[in-house]
Amino acid sequence: MTTNVPAYAVPAANAPLERTTVPRRAVGEHDVLIEIKYAGICHSDIHQARDGWGEGIFPMVPGHEIAGIVTEVGPGVTKYAAGDRVGVGCFVDSCRRCAYCRQGLEQYCAEGMTGTYNALGRDGEPTYGGYSTHIVVDENYTVRIPDGLGLDVAAPLLCAGITLYSPLAHWNAGPGKSVAIVGLGGLGHMGVKIAHAMGAEVTVLSQTLRKEADGRRLGADHFHATGDPETFTKLAGTFDLVVSTVSAPLDLDAYLGLLRTGGTLVNVGAPEEPVSLNLFSVIGGRKTLAGSMIGGIAETQEMLDFCAEYGLGAEIELIDADRINEAYERVLRSDVRYRFVIDASTIR
Ligand code: NAP
Ligand code: ZN
Repeated sequence: MTTNVPAYAVPAANAPLERTTVPRRAVGEHDVLIEIKYAGICHSDIHQARDGWGEGIFPMVPGHEIAGIVTEVGPGVTKYAAGDRVGVGCFVDSCRRCAYCRQGLEQYCAEGMTGTYNALGRDGEPTYGGYSTHIVVDENYTVRIPDGLGLDVAAPLLCAGITLYSPLAHWNAGPGKSVAIVGLGGLGHMGVKIAHAMGAEVTVLSQTLRKEADGRRLGADHFHATGDPETFTKLAGTFDLVVSTVSAPLDLDAYLGLLRTGGTLVNVGAPEEPVSLNLFSVIGGRKTLAGSMIGGIAETQEMLDFCAEYGLGAEIELIDADRINEAYERVLRSDVRYRFVIDASTIR
């Protein structure tokens, strides 16, 4: 038996969010029922609410940065009990059999992961995300939020945190490495904190110097404005690793020019339009252009434990649910310091 729970949904592409209810399935053998306490607002929510990536399923309940408390568990659940502090990120299922799923790379599942929202579950029913009071999720797609992290500042780690942790770990950000983070928004500010905690020398590349004091407080050693064309000549050949979180198309050639020989530009931003590339930008200097998508379940748990150890919560602006539409407009203007988080108690 499904239960209808309060939620904020986008009724059709580009329409403002409004309060409604959505069905949640009955708690199955391996499911946990989570009372959502906080849900972060990711720029991906906005891309999808506006159908910027296409093939959106409406009505859509966005939200894949979910933190809450387990209130009920299915009879086969072994990892969690009522009262546990848990999180859910960008996906709630995958095939569980392919080589990637077996390696803990469920986000790259050969059959495609099942998104937390804007997807069809493996039961064929649409999935609805975290802008809601409750969600039912398989325990294997749920992670534990360590006691040292507040649920409100932990919520954004479920997407923004892991999306930066995974490439920083994969490309060995650490002592002796010079790392640039492009864009100081939700993802970028977690990138600065995590890369700094990993021991790298961290540079923020932001459109202006407006956020410089914040960037340095978050752990940046250097801060430069990309709006100043001299930045690209001054910093040419400087970085081992550049991670771009920019939500708009990027001048790849210009950013590849910032890498040292053998360096890597990892793009995690997901703009709605394609970008072009002059291949000479990677030939000279044997450079790598890469992408990266969130992280697997085990790595997400590793990231949460790392963030708890170093005291790395997100910097948040906590809002009531009736301010989501306004928050979207502010994110689009790069006017968020540095993640909006919805207090889910205001959804009911
Ligand atoms: P966000 O909070 O809006 O941050 C993006 C930052 O990029 C802005 O704060 C701004 O930083 C910079 N920026 C925005 N527009 C720009 C432009 N036209 N030119 C140059 N810089 C610009 O967004 P987010 O939530 O961090 O998400 C960022 C992107 O990553 C989105 O496209 C999102 O869909 C994508 N994403 C990807 C993954 C993945 O797994 N790969 C996961 C989550 C999100 P400054 O003000 O400092 O310039
Ligand atoms: Zn996200």
